[in-house]
Formats: sequence, C-alpha cells, structure tokens
Amino acid sequence: MTQTIDQVQGTTDPAAARRDHALTLAAELRSGYLAGSWREAASTFDVTDPATGAVVASVADCDVADGLAALSAADAAAEEWRASTPAERAALLHRVDTAMRADQENLAHLITLETGKTLTEARGEVIYAADYVRWYAEEAVRVHGRSSTAPTGDFQIVTVAEPVGPCLLITPWNVPLAMVTRKLAPAIAAGCTAVVKPAELTPLVTLAFARIVEDAGAPQGVVSVITTTRADEVCAALLADERLRKVSFTGSTAVGRLLLERSGQRVLRTSMELGGNAPFVVFDDADLDLAVEQAMIAKMRMGGQSCVGANRFLVQEGIADAFAARLGERMAATRVGSGFDEDVDLGPLIDERAVAKAQRLTDDALERGAREVARAEAPEGSCYLAPVVLDQVPADAAIISEEVFAPVAAISTFSTEAEALARANDTEHGLAGFVITASLDRARRMAGRMRSGMVGINRGLVSSVAAPFGGTKQSGLGREGGPEGIAEYLDMKYVAVPAF
Ligand code: NAD
Repeated sequence: MTQTIDQVQGTTDPAAARRDHALTLAAELRSGYLAGSWREAASTFDVTDPATGAVVASVADCDVADGLAALSAADAAAEEWRASTPAERAALLHRVDTAMRADQENLAHLITLETGKTLTEARGEVIYAADYVRWYAEEAVRVHGRSSTAPTGDFQIVTVAEPVGPCLLITPWNVPLAMVTRKLAPAIAAGCTAVVKPAELTPLVTLAFARIVEDAGAPQGVVSVITTTRADEVCAALLADERLRKVSFTGSTAVGRLLLERSGQRVLRTSMELGGNAPFVVFDDADLDLAVEQAMIAKMRMGGQSCVGANRFLVQEGIADAFAARLGERMAATRVGSGFDEDVDLGPLIDERAVAKAQRLTDDALERGAREVARAEAPEGSCYLAPVVLDQVPADAAIISEEVFAPVAAISTFSTEAEALARANDTEHGLAGFVITASLDRARRMAGRMRSGMVGINRGLVSSVAAPFGGTKQSGLGREGGPEGIAEYLDMKYVAVPAF
C-alpha cells in the first residue's frame, strides 16, 4: 500500500481524515486476484460504507469463467505446493504474519470502511487474523501421522497426512479478515491451494490481504480471490467441478445447508461454521460486576454481530433485577457513531436489512410482553441502531429462537439449574454458551451438559487461535483453530508395511 496513516495525523477532523485515508486505500483495490495476477473482470460492483451509505469502491464482479480460472490455477499449482516442504510453507506464513502486523493500520482502516466496526475493534481483528497465520506457520511443521503394529502382528500400520487438494473458502462479512486467515492459513500450512470467496459486502480487506500474500512470495495459483455478487452461480460451478476437493464455509445455516447438499453430490470434504444462538446463563451466586462485564463482551463485541455473541440472557430470579438494571446502565452509555471516531464504542450495523431484522425482533418481543429496560442513543443514519436491553422476554418471542445479530440484549429469568439447562439447550443451534457462577460444581455440570461446541465459564469470550472453534447441531461441522484446524485440510492415508 502506498499511503501510510502518518499522513492523517494532525488534521482538524481526525475521523474524516481517517476515512479519507481508507478511501484512498480502497480506490487501489479494483481487480480480482486470479491465478497469481490482478485481473479486471467484465463488470464491477459497488462497496458501500454502512455509516454513510456512500459507495466507497467498485471491485471486480467475477463470473463463473473467472471462478473456474481461479480453480484451474489452484489445480495447476496443487502438485508443486503439495510437494513443498513444511518449512517452506511455514516460512511463507511467517512472512505473511509479519507483513500483516506491519500493515495493521491500513488493514484496519479498510475493515472499518466496509464493515462500520470501530477502528479499535478493526485493529484487534487484524492482530487476531495475523495470530492465525502465525499459529499455522508454527503448526505446519507439526503435522503427525502414527505408526503401530497390526493386531495380527505381521505388518505395521503407518499413517501419513496428505493435503486434501484445491479448496474453496467462503467467508462472511462480520469478521472479514480473520475468517479468511482462519481458513487460508491452515490450508496453506497443510499444502493445499485455495480459492477465497469473500462476502460481497466486504471484499476490500481480503483484496488487500491478497497483495500481502503475493508480496510474501506465494507461488502463482496457491491463493486466488474471487469477489462476486454471483456467489450462488459461481460457487455452484466450483462445487460441481471435480478438481475441487474441499469447501470450507462460514456463514448462515441456510446457506450452509445448501452447500452441504451440493457438496454431497461429489462427496466433498466440508467444514461448516454456521449460525449460533448462544445462551448466557447467570446464576444467583455470580459476582454481579463480573457478570455484567462479561455480558458486555459477549453481547457488544462487533455490535452483537458475532456468531458466538450472547443471543439470550437467562438469569436466575434472585439476581435478575440487579443484572438487568446494571446491564441497562452500561448499554445505555454506549457511544454510537462512525467507527473512524476514536471516541465511539460502536459503529453502524452492516446494512439496513440487519437493522430491520433487529427492530422486528425487538418489536415482536415488546408486543409479547417484554419490558424495555434501557436504550442508548444513536445518530441518524439508516444503518445505526441504538443498543437496547429487554427483560421479561417470553419464551415464544422470536428473538429467543432467531439470531438477532445486533446490540439487543434479551433477558429472561429462570428458577432452577435444571430449567436453565433445558432452556439453554432448547435451540437447533449449538455453537457457544456462557455460564456465570461462583460454584465450581455448577460450572462443571453446566459445561458438561450444554449441547454446544464451546462453553465459556465466567468468560464472555471464547475465541482463541489455539482452541478448536466450531459448533454442534445446526451450528456446523468441523473445527477451526488449534491443531484441529489443520486436520480439516488433511486426508489421512494409511500404508501397510511389512513388520519390522
Ligand atoms: P451468509 O450465509 O449470507 O453469507 C456468507 C458467505 O456465503 C458470503 O460470502 C456469501 O456471499 C456467501 N454465499 C451466500 N449465498 C451463497 C450461495 N448460494 N453459494 C455460495 N456462497 C454463498 O452469511 P452472512 O450474513 O455473511 O454472515 C452471517 C452469518 O454467519 C450468521 O449466521 C453468523 O452466525 C454466521 N457466522 C458464523 C461463524 C462461525 O464461525 N460459526 C462466524 C461468523 C459468522
């Protein structure tokens, strides 16, 4: 990138200057990155800033032919990349990691421009994204098979982990950089080549990241990025192509189901990180300060637009009023505004549809008898939504079963641990759950019985590069992060060899 953030220091309106800086960066990102080169597509599509509704960039609108060209490149590069040494793959990822950290400000500016999230959160996302690259640089040289003697004693069982082959990586808009690296870094470390398909709402930071990968020396075709408004058509063509061997998807459960159906036709390896409906359970014995602090993290990170964000607060009767009042005070004090303004806690939601959905779910809860405890202020503007706290939310309110994906906290009360557990598990999803209690026994029981892929005990944040992130039930298949994450990109071959 040609500009540095130093150029915006010292101006009278720093937020406007930061946004201008982001616009300059965005203007450089027009082409798709296919087959190791930057290519213009036949048409382009607009990217908008959710804070203003203004068009901030136009990028390549790749079609099926572009998608297949990217897959051809991934296929052509597959044998050579598979034959690269683990140390070579690790070295490439280390160079990418270093470059991402050096370019943190520019990458963060692009994230803020296209998602609306605050610069503070965007900076955090860049480091979190780079952490995945670093983790898998280190993991690339630690891929193990095993060896054992067959029960019959006449031969040895030797297993070898092999890359699955060319992968399609489809990512969502809410964490646009970290969701790419959480997939791409283990794929590269495993020896796979990849076609990345970022969300159409947020293509910019992925294109900027592709430059970093290119500059770090990734061989031609190992990574391609196809930006497109025709995700269904383009991805269907790739999924039907026999050269593709794996699809990894993060997004909604509805799209995940469709991709699973299509993948089934060709028995593709799949990883699916889908929607959530996380319960946040607070027991009477909880430390109130800690409960509210962790609730704020679980609810308000990314303005509630997180798959592991707390969707339902289940609070025991004895602490419920105090918890609702304190959470209300905190949420009402949230400063909402442009993500480029360093004094702001929360930016806009991603688009008007997201705002409309949150308003529908809030109105539905209020009509069914919920009580509004607190509401913050938000600026005028179609994508801004004032944070809201509701309590006495009845079990039949739609917000209890649908992912709100917004800064709306829905509180219901319970009386016994058994009731809390039953209600926590009463969802088709099973991504994350949270338990706040001072009792170790209760924490252990709840963690063991909650039907979700992840449980936070006295913590509102579970994500870590070293942990296996993923869900049960309709929240998905497979895990990302930790040693488990690289296994998603490896096939285990077993070789029978004569006994020693
Ligand atoms: P989405 O399903 O609409 O889109 C996700 C991605 O899929 C985008 O890149 C989109 O272009 C693409 N897509 C859409 N239709 C497609 C099709 N027919 N074929 C191929 N690709 C298609 O989801 P979203 O609104 O971008 O993201 C929000 C959802 O993602 C929420 O449900 C959230 O819970 C989930 N999410 C899950 C995780 C996780 O790790 N489990 C992480 C972040 C977000």
